[in-house]
Amino acid sequence: MDMSERGALGLDLFQPDAGRTGGAALPFYAEQAGEAALFEQAWRQRLPLLLKGPTGCGKTRFVEHMAARLGRPLVTVSCHDDLSAADLVGRHLIGAQGTVWADGPLTRAVRQGAICYLDEVVEARKDTTVVLHPLADDRRVLPIERTGELLAAPPGFMLVVSYNPGYQNLLKSLKPSTRQRFVALTLGYPEPVLETRIVEMESGVAPDLAARLVRLAQALRRLTEHDLDETASTRLLVMAARLAAGGVPLRAACRAAIVDALTDDADTAAALDEVVGAVL
Ligand code: ADP
Repeated sequence: MDMSERGALGLDLFQPDAGRTGGAALPFYAEQAGEAALFEQAWRQRLPLLLKGPTGCGKTRFVEHMAARLGRPLVTVSCHDDLSAADLVGRHLIGAQGTVWADGPLTRAVRQGAICYLDEVVEARKDTTVVLHPLADDRRVLPIERTGELLAAPPGFMLVVSYNPGYQNLLKSLKPSTRQRFVALTLGYPEPVLETRIVEMESGVAPDLAARLVRLAQALRRLTEHDLDETASTRLLVMAARLAAGGVPLRAACRAAIVDALTDDADTAAALDEVVGAVL
């Protein structure tokens, strides 16, 4: 089979191809526990993936890293409560030349054989499941109702969705019929040695400072008496470390990047700040 035949069959899309990243360095991702191999197998087996985990634990970075590693383009959509099926699939736009069809990000991703990452998918409107279901099961098709097109996903295409089980209420969780279409992978905060390395790599601070910030995160994560929706994530640690690397005194960096990011309540902020003072 020559290359043009392979291309026509979409087979070239199915091979990891570092050349597609243009030789650019892979986005840095420190693996927690075999998730890269699992992602790659899911992609090879044409299975969609559900990533679960708290905000700021590395889900987005993981997908960016894997897309580059597999040589696939990445289309990311941050879902919100107003996001509809039409926002994902596309719509007719009225222009000077009349009405033209404009692909939405999901349609673009299917056409390109890209990895399509829907971040916080439970936020999206319920009508989005109508387009996600046929893409997420064996059919791997995207029905475009408005144009009558039924788009078959090429082998390189993969649907990845994420959600944060922590802050879903009962009204906002994935329906069993949706979640059972996906292979699920749970990420938590990285264990301390790994998280220290991440903070170091992402901010350029010295290893001992990174380790102190990770100890602080662990202390904050143990706090349960405060009614916080979220706790100190790896993202917040990296932000504090970057401020500190730029010369902001450590305590002030933690206040700005961690404490004030977690709460608006003055009493809670004072309590968190006390933990910062005690640990650092
Ligand atoms: P999420 O998508 O889960 O909210 P992100 O992927 O945006 O989180 O992670 C936030 C930041 O934390 C990243 O920009 C990166 O600096 C850092 N980070 C978290 N986990 C990792 C990891 N395993 N490897 C490299 N960087 C990480």
